[in-house]
Amino acid sequence: MRFMKLPCLYIVIPCYNEQIVLPQTIPMFVNKLNELISSETISGSSRVVFVNDGSKDDTWAIISRCAEQEILVEGICLSRNRGHQNALLCGLMTVKDKCDVTISIDCDGQDDINAMNDMLEAYRKGADVVYGVRSSRKTDTFFKRFTAQTFYRLLKGMGAEVVYNHADYRLISSRVLNDFADFKEVNIFLRGMITLVGFNSTSVYYERHERLAGKSHYPFKKMLALAIDGITSLSIKPIRLITSLGAFLLIFNLSVLLIGSIVFLCGNPVSSWLMTLSASALLCALQIIAVGVVGEYVGKVYLETKARPRYIISESTFKNND
Ligand code: UDP
Ligand code: MG
Repeated sequence: MRFMKLPCLYIVIPCYNEQIVLPQTIPMFVNKLNELISSETISGSSRVVFVNDGSKDDTWAIISRCAEQEILVEGICLSRNRGHQNALLCGLMTVKDKCDVTISIDCDGQDDINAMNDMLEAYRKGADVVYGVRSSRKTDTFFKRFTAQTFYRLLKGMGAEVVYNHADYRLISSRVLNDFADFKEVNIFLRGMITLVGFNSTSVYYERHERLAGKSHYPFKKMLALAIDGITSLSIKPIRLITSLGAFLLIFNLSVLLIGSIVFLCGNPVSSWLMTLSASALLCALQIIAVGVVGEYVGKVYLETKARPRYIISESTFKNND
């Protein structure tokens, strides 16, 4: 259990070309915040912050008008479209010093806002990160469900730590965000990176609905780009896979050549095309290994240039002036 005083919550919501859905969802978020304030779950200084990700429609006009009229609403406008992950990061980094805790959520009403109560309860009990996890994928098309599941499996196989069926609906305390600010990399995949910060975390489960209006901004092309970013920003395993493939081919072809030579030396006929093929495949294997070795160093450079903090201290018995 933590604190005596009510926590200040900032809800961070990235928006891209959402003029159709915002008029419906802004009141929804504001009502939720009002409800949480009046039930004394959060403090009265809490806010809903919309981040306009360089929309080409009236999204920013709607947000800024609303911020003028409604004290609980604030807006941030990006200079151009930078993508969901960057917009969200911008929102979180902007508010981290103004509040105790943040919840990030999409603006389309797909995620059940009532799960915020459970998230805040988990926070009160000491969790610093609370992942919103979809309890089912009933409202998804077969294609979306299939691609999403393949994506999670692939990420896991590549050694990235991600919470299954969790997207970007999540509570993060400002203390975690302050440490996360030291992750300076530019290829970002928040749901995989937040797990790297550590601290106490837990999950809450909710049903995901259909979009209230408008259409998804994640067509297959963007999903694929996110998947590639997810894997390559968290892991250099693909490089290792190339090296392993090269090593496998090398051993295989060496064996073929060796066996072929023994058979030949014993006076038996040997297929000459098999020997030629194996010899050239052997050279191929050496090349693949060479690429893998170069890749290994490039991978090291890549990880170094991220300059991620090597460790994060969660608590200390030292006083500040010690
Ligand atoms: N979004 C964004 N920038 C983009 C694309 C999307 O800020 O370039 C926002 C969008 O407004 C929404 C959230 O990211 O709040 C998730 O997008 P969407 O609902 O289109 O994705 P889906 O739920 O279909 O995966
Ligand atoms: Mg959506």
